[in-house]
Amino acid sequence: MTLQIETIPCLDDNYAYLAHDFGTGETAVIDVPEAAPILAALDARGWRATLVLLTHHHADHVQGLDELLASHDARIIGAAADAHRLPPLDQAVKEGDSVAIGNETGTVIEVPGHTSGHIAFHFPQSGVAFTADSLMALGCGRVIEGTMTQMWESLQKLAALPPETMICSGHEYTAANARFALTIDPANPALISRAEAVDAARAEGRPTVPSILSEELATNPFLRAADRDVQAHLGMTGADPAEAFAEIRSRKDRF
Ligand code: ZN
Ligand code: FE
Repeated sequence: MTLQIETIPCLDDNYAYLAHDFGTGETAVIDVPEAAPILAALDARGWRATLVLLTHHHADHVQGLDELLASHDARIIGAAADAHRLPPLDQAVKEGDSVAIGNETGTVIEVPGHTSGHIAFHFPQSGVAFTADSLMALGCGRVIEGTMTQMWESLQKLAALPPETMICSGHEYTAANARFALTIDPANPALISRAEAVDAARAEGRPTVPSILSEELATNPFLRAADRDVQAHLGMTGADPAEAFAEIRSRKDRF
């Protein structure tokens, strides 16, 4: 049996996720932007949080933790590299380490760039990856601490996961990301139709996450820095994909 995943809107545009294993009753909370909506989602399902997976140290991903722990007894897992600036960890993890949610085992993927210690969690049996502010729907996190090359390499690790993987990212930025993506890859029919679907979802107040890795590979400009049409549009035909990525990311920063 695979994990049941619940998407929890928090704050203005953040997402937390619940991952519940019915076999053991264990429930993981992935990132804690604020406690109230997470507590309400747990209560509505009669679940108890037994585990918290933290992707990175930014306040909008950890600041609800104390309030959650006031009523739930959960073990905290986060990056060893950032243990000094994350909440106290029960398990400090690095690239390739295993993380269990009930009977299902996942793997830690280090994805530096947005922050130096950002990690993602991949659960292959359920086909889900929690990527927060690394790979996002039609986007990627701003490169704050790492280098552009580091972020490109992080995204390449995620791009190599099975294409049917559900990508659970950290923010509802997809409509703005779509508008930017169309400036980079304007003739891509898959992007044009996805942008329409995103606008329709937002008009109805529906989340645009999780997304599917295969649709990110087809439409997310930050994964398409090696694509001929994208490079031609950038005036960078034949460029090193990491350099084309850096150009796309800096255009987004100015968009
Ligand atoms: Zn962040
Ligand atoms: Fe964030």
